Amino acid sequence: MSEWIVGIDLGTTNSEVAVVRAGQVEVIPVTAGVRILPSVVGLGDDGSLLVGEAARNQYALHPERSVRSIKRRMGESTTVQMGSQEFAPQEISAMILRRLREIAEAHLGEAVSKAVITVPAYFSDAQRQATREAGEIAGLDVVRILNEPTAAALAYESSRRGARKAIVYDLGGGTFDVSVVNLEGDVVEVLASHGNNHLGGDDFDQKLVEHAIEHLAQTQQLDVRQQPLVLARLQRAAEAAKIALSAQPFATLSEEYLCEKDGLPVHLSLEISRRAYEEMIADYIGETIEAVHIALRDAGLAVADISEVLLVGGATRTPFVQRRLEEELRLQPRAELDPDLCVAMGAAIQAAVISGAQAPSVLVDVTPYTFGTSALGEYEGEMYPYCYVPLIRKNTPIPVSRSEVFHTVHDGQTKVEVNVYQGEDPDALNNISIGRFLVEGLRDAPAGNPVVTTFSLDLNGILHVSAREKETGLQHSITIDRAISRFTSDKLDAARERIAAIFADQEDDAAPAASTALPVEAASGDADETARRLRVEARALIEKGERLLATASSEDADDLVNGIESVKEAITGSSSELKAAIDVFADLLYYLDA
Ligand code: AMP
Repeated sequence: MSEWIVGIDLGTTNSEVAVVRAGQVEVIPVTAGVRILPSVVGLGDDGSLLVGEAARNQYALHPERSVRSIKRRMGESTTVQMGSQEFAPQEISAMILRRLREIAEAHLGEAVSKAVITVPAYFSDAQRQATREAGEIAGLDVVRILNEPTAAALAYESSRRGARKAIVYDLGGGTFDVSVVNLEGDVVEVLASHGNNHLGGDDFDQKLVEHAIEHLAQTQQLDVRQQPLVLARLQRAAEAAKIALSAQPFATLSEEYLCEKDGLPVHLSLEISRRAYEEMIADYIGETIEAVHIALRDAGLAVADISEVLLVGGATRTPFVQRRLEEELRLQPRAELDPDLCVAMGAAIQAAVISGAQAPSVLVDVTPYTFGTSALGEYEGEMYPYCYVPLIRKNTPIPVSRSEVFHTVHDGQTKVEVNVYQGEDPDALNNISIGRFLVEGLRDAPAGNPVVTTFSLDLNGILHVSAREKETGLQHSITIDRAISRFTSDKLDAARERIAAIFADQEDDAAPAASTALPVEAASGDADETARRLRVEARALIEKGERLLATASSEDADDLVNGIESVKEAITGSSSELKAAIDVFADLLYYLDA
């Protein structure tokens, strides 16, 4: 019987359990389709123990018999009250761990007695010890306490990209941590860490709740501050609106029958623009950016020393967070893993390594290209009608849908043209045009009439683009098939032609010298054909590697030179050796090219 070691992210707001099975990282569902267990415990009406969603749902009504955010108390010699009983923080955490253990056992169909558990990098010895004890109480032998940023780096496989320094930016529901890490081979070292364990997405919700409270006071002369049920409903609506604003430029905070006034029901329907929301949370984000700089300073590093920014925590899905980080660090943050799950994934990877397995990879479907549209804007100091506005950035997990608002430029403008591009250049005309359509029949309005453009990319690489006049709902759209694969096949065609041309040249050549770029052998049988193809592929990769070398950083250049050398060496070896070298080198090129 195999002995499972599970990986557990024991979070302040949410917890997850993951395992590596048959070389794949699986975050285990808590219930069908849900892989997140709220870190809340409570006692139900009948005194039964509630862990997770049920405990969270009763929190607003029965705070006296519910406990949340226990992670903040770990390591303190204190107790918390739940109903009529007192519990040590370790005991509350143990209830969450025990539930996760049961979930894993039900999923695997076998007993689970070992775990890797993650903790923030700043956790003291006492806090780490308390976490170990919580594991023991839950019947788990804690084989390793792993730093959360280390787990994230393992999940993002950053260390496999060569020696480098990275920033792990972790913004969850109630806590914020930033760590500067050094990655080298299998070793991830936390160089510095900073944060605020009372800052997170819940504060963003609160800003929206306050905005709604003010709106109710102004429009209805209503004060709902003393009505816990109304506040709880507003909170939920605020979080939903916040999440919607990560994908759309507008969202409506709405609750029917929110409360009563003079015997009449009060409905709330309050539209919020992404721009207004970003202003509400700007100070919070500013604080996190400042923390990034403090952590960098503590690590004795400059922005230019950082090769990667890894995003962790649900609140990093906020586009404003990603934009600010990119402006500040001049790197597009990596967001291809689910930010809620990547720490648990990293813990599972560490667990697999401890049990002697090869470090597995996390498989994700991401778009390899950026898709966007063009708009009038400032480019190199002048107004220019083809400024590129990316909507779906490369390496975003698919399926994905993103919207942005644009405005008409002239009074009485009745049509707009929507251009769809693939590429990265700030001048849209330097990107590849993949489609366009006209939205006609807009209402006769002054300049500034909003039109919402939505890009949706599905798993099959089909891109659907629509544009809708916000005030009237008038909508036009196009569907672009194979938005992803068409370029791959274009590239393939180009490569095929290029290779064919080289072969043709050689056939013209009566006696090709041994050192020609592409030796052609008499194709005798499949093995020869395979070997020949591999050599063609190898040389194409070497060529590509040499091209990338021109613009690579010195660290990447080392990796490239090593990769090129090993492929060159393998060309003279067996097909299987060459295939192995090609695979490794192709992975490297994929990363460096990405
Ligand atoms: P975590 O503690 O890492 O699970 O993060 C939870 C926080 O992320 C909560 O405040 C969520 O409301 C927030 N969150 C989840 N999804 C999104 C989203 N799409 N956009 C913005 N915030 C989100």
